[in-house]
Parts: sequence; C-alpha cells; structure tokens
Amino acid sequence: LTERLQKAMTNLRRKGKVSESDLRDTMREIRLALLEADVNFTVVKDFVKTVRDRALGAKVLEGLNPAQQIVKIVNEELTKTMGETAVPLNKSAKIPTVIMMAGLQGAGKTTTVGKLALKLKNEQNARPLMIAADVYRPAAIQQLQQVGQQIDVPVFEMGTDVDPVEIVRQGMVEAEANHNDYVFIDTAGRLQIDEQLMTELANIKDLVHPDEILLVIDAMTGQNAVNTAEGFDQKLDVTGVVLTKLDGDTRGGAALSIRAVTGKPIKFVGQGEKMTDLDVFHPDRMADRILGMGDMLTLIEKAQQQYDEKEAEQMNRKIQENSFDFNDFIDQLDQVDKMGNMEDIMKMIPGMANNPAMKNFNMDPKDIAHIRAIVYSMTPQEKQDPDVLNPSRRRRIAAGSGRPIHEVNRMIKQFNQTKKMMNQMSKGNFSGMEGLMGG
Ligand code: GDP
Ligand code: MG
Repeated sequence: LTERLQKAMTNLRRKGKVSESDLRDTMREIRLALLEADVNFTVVKDFVKTVRDRALGAKVLEGLNPAQQIVKIVNEELTKTMGETAVPLNKSAKIPTVIMMAGLQGAGKTTTVGKLALKLKNEQNARPLMIAADVYRPAAIQQLQQVGQQIDVPVFEMGTDVDPVEIVRQGMVEAEANHNDYVFIDTAGRLQIDEQLMTELANIKDLVHPDEILLVIDAMTGQNAVNTAEGFDQKLDVTGVVLTKLDGDTRGGAALSIRAVTGKPIKFVGQGEKMTDLDVFHPDRMADRILGMGDMLTLIEKAQQQYDEKEAEQMNRKIQENSFDFNDFIDQLDQVDKMGNMEDIMKMIPGMANNPAMKNFNMDPKDIAHIRAIVYSMTPQEKQDPDVLNPSRRRRIAAGSGRPIHEVNRMIKQFNQTKKMMNQMSKGNFSGMEGLMGG
C-alpha cells in the first residue's frame, strides 16, 4: 500500500498547479494502491469518492498549494476511515475487568494476551490472571504458561479434558478469591470460522459478560481479514480489534477495511513477536505512516523513553561536525540496544520503510558483541581519532579482542562509512545511503 501511495503523493507534491486530469490520475493511483493492499472494494470506492468530492468541492485546485491540500485531505480521510482517535480498553467499575479474546488459529490471541497483561502490569501495576480456555491442543496451554512465566503473570488451567465454559467459570472464582483486577480469557481458534467454535465462544460470553471482547486479526491475511472480522463480529458483537503482525510486509490494508466494515475500533496493533511489541492504535499516526511521512511521533516517543535529549543534541552536533568517534559509536550501540531493534526504528523514519538498503540493515547481536570487543581493545587515543589506526595498531587490536584482523579492518571501514552516511543524512542528503549501507 505504502509504496504506491507514496509515489502518487510524491508526484502530486512536485506539482505547483493541479489540473482536473492530475487529480483524476492521482485518484486512480490511490484507488489502485488501496485495492492492491486488499482494502475492501466498497471501502475503496467510498474513500476515493469522498476525497475527490472534497478536493473539487473546496475548490482546492484553484487555491494555494493544491497538491499539499490534497495530500492533507487524503491524510484526514485515511484517519477518519480508521476511526479518528485512539480508543482505550474498557474498564469495569468493579474488579475484575474481564477481557475475552476471539480470533482464528494463529492470529496471535495467546501472544496478545501476554502483551496486554504485561502492558497493564507495567502501566497500572495491574494483577492480571490469564485463563487457558483453549483445550483443543495441549500445546496451547503450555504456550500460555510459558508466556505467563516470561511476564510473571499467573495462569489458570484445568488441562484439556474440561469444557472451556467450565474452565472459565472456575477461573473467575479463582480471580475473585485472589482479587485479580484483570482476567484474560485465552480462547481457541480454528483455521476458519465454524459453528461449534462460535457457540463455545458465545457460551463463554453469556457466562461472564466480558467488559471487552477483543477480536485478534492477522493483518497479513489481506481481504480475508475483513470477512473474518465480519463473521466474528456478527456472532459475538466484539468491542474492539487487535491487528497483529503489522511488522510484516502488509501495511494498512486491513486497518483501513476493518474499521470501516465492522465499525469496531482497532485498539492495539501487534508489531512483533516479543512481549513488548504491542502499541496503542493511533489512526492519525497510521495514516501518516501509510502516506510515508513516517510514524515520527511513535519514533519520538520511543526514543524519548530511553534517550536523553541533551545527549541526542550533542550527538547531532558531533555528526554535523564530523567529529563522531568510536566512543560515540559505542554510546550509539548502547542506545540502540535500549530502544530495541534497529530495523524497526529505521523503518519509522520517512522514506526508509521502502528503501532497498533496509534489507541489508540487520544487525546480529553476536556481531554487535564482536564490535564492542574490538572497540574496547582500542586505546583512548585510537577511539578518539580513528585515523591513527595503522596496520600494526590494527593487529594489536585484533589480538587484544580475539577477533580476526579482517574483521577489525571491516569494522573500521564500516565505521567510516557509517560516519560518512550520518554526516550526509544530517545534511538532509539521503541519496548516498543505498550504496553505503549495501556495501
Ligand atoms: P493464537 O493461535 O491466536 O493464540 O496465536 P499465537 O499467539 O499462538 O500466535 C501465532 C504466531 O504468531 C506465533 O508464532 C506468534 O509469535 C506470532 N505473532 C503473534 N503476534 C505477532 C505480531 O504482532 N507480529 C509477529 N511478527 N508475529 C506475531
Ligand atoms: Mg492460542
């Protein structure tokens, strides 16, 4: 979705004046981009019509910066289609708040239960209980127990021989006794919607009247995501959607359709397999991301949590002055470690998500450890002034760090390239990046 849409937007931005035929071309590109991304046909039709009507109605074409105004309209309408604002989790006035999961097998229900429980624990000091109500695969209970251990949250289970509704009933008694403030019900899924499963879920719903029924949808399933969402929603009247696997190739398609078709808010998005890879869904940020402006706010928030502003400023100055040295390099590595996966972070920078260089930008933790070892074997002078690294110094560093000499050489070369690249980026020149990063 993003690539095609970005191209259309870039073409449009380049134009000072926009003719009606330019607008028509742009609208065609937008329509194709949305359809290619598996956005529901009806949603696409409505979307394109709304944008065109607004562009024509407001006499945008005759006004100032027509291209920019159209981009703005597209952005606003994307945001609107996805629900305007973030919608928080429902909370019961009386504990426990009961959150029931629903979704197909493999959608990410169990993972999401863990991610949400951890989030509530971290943000509200919550004491959740997770109920294992998927009795169809013994591995499902084990999986939830593993998640529980990982995030230190208790799991209520009764094996696979008990009716899920009964498990939930007893789990609720347990939660009451332990004063848990949240109860998560991890349910079974099927490869496709089937009556038996729906009846089971409906029975659980009737028993506990959950405050929240979260439908978990795999964003990679394209057009099927919408049919699945409709099917579950008709039977269960869900209260919210979690869109998982948005870290994969598909971006935005399902997010656009699901809200429009079901009217149910997307509350969270899963962006990876780790327990911390869950974010509140912000329609406006998603729209920016789809349009290729980069999810700067999320990026900034993420960075702010970990990154001292002064430090960042200092680093920036050093990059500009080209006095970035190995001490800074190690500092940067530490920061990256703290912030998470470098690739994820780079993808949020405008223009980077589709940069072919991204493919080569994977850092193995082992490589990072080796890089550290090499830098730690340098003298203070060498760290500050990499230019002094002659062959004999490099041999000494290789021996000291226990890494082969060619690796030391390669690392120093990469450092110099990175330094050059950062210096260029800081001057707003992204063009040299592909060669540098791929090299
Ligand atoms: P369930 O059958 O609905 O309970 O699905 P699971 O929670 O077992 O998840 C199925 C697979 O999807 C597992 O391998 C998860 O690690 C993976 N998964 C879940 N959420 C995400 C996500 O947001 N991103 C990625 N990349 N993988 C995910
Ligand atoms: Mg599961």
